[in-house]
Amino acid sequence: MARHSLALDDTLHDYLLSVTLREHPSQRALREATAAWPRAGMQIGAEQGALMSLLVKLAGARRAIEVGVFTGYSALTVALALPPDGRLLACDISDHDTVIGIPHWQAAGVAHRIEFVVAPADQTLAARLAGGEAGSYDFAFIDADKTGYDRYVELCLQLLRPGGLIAIDNVLWGGAVARPAEGDADTAALQALNAKLHADERVDLAMLPIGDGVTLLRKR
Ligand code: CA
Repeated sequence: MARHSLALDDTLHDYLLSVTLREHPSQRALREATAAWPRAGMQIGAEQGALMSLLVKLAGARRAIEVGVFTGYSALTVALALPPDGRLLACDISDHDTVIGIPHWQAAGVAHRIEFVVAPADQTLAARLAGGEAGSYDFAFIDADKTGYDRYVELCLQLLRPGGLIAIDNVLWGGAVARPAEGDADTAALQALNAKLHADERVDLAMLPIGDGVTLLRKR
């Protein structure tokens, strides 16, 4: 039987970062600022940022979507990976956490690539669809309220072009998805989404055990 993914202890995780991480100084500064912020664990890990940067470039993305911005580390990462004329539509229900990230977007010289919209993301994305933007995006990252994921995936599938890529965060939910949800709405929502996507003929998919689990979908 093939071995499972290697469990990383702190030493091996530090090694992984030491031989792969190429953070922009603003990324490092924002990661350090976020570490001192409440709920800092909501930020994606640096190695996950490196993966997203690579995916954005592989997809040749010019137009990207983010659902769930938090302090803005992932938005900064995507914006840095976009070409000079690239644009990221960054959606969050609040700017409470993002205020600490915006100065770092500016310091990195990519703030003009990020359109930050404070509103329920499903409303923002539905408005873009109504505005004729279906099929015009290349990449989406979903990392927000888990019970909203299914709706965000459906909207992003419509907004993406064929061949476009969606990355969904927290799909392993600390391991809870492999056990009965027992009334936990977030766990149940992630279980239902994971099962649905497994059978979804509209996408190619892979699930990576990086961070808290990331599903990658390629729109067919
Ligand atoms: Ca997350």
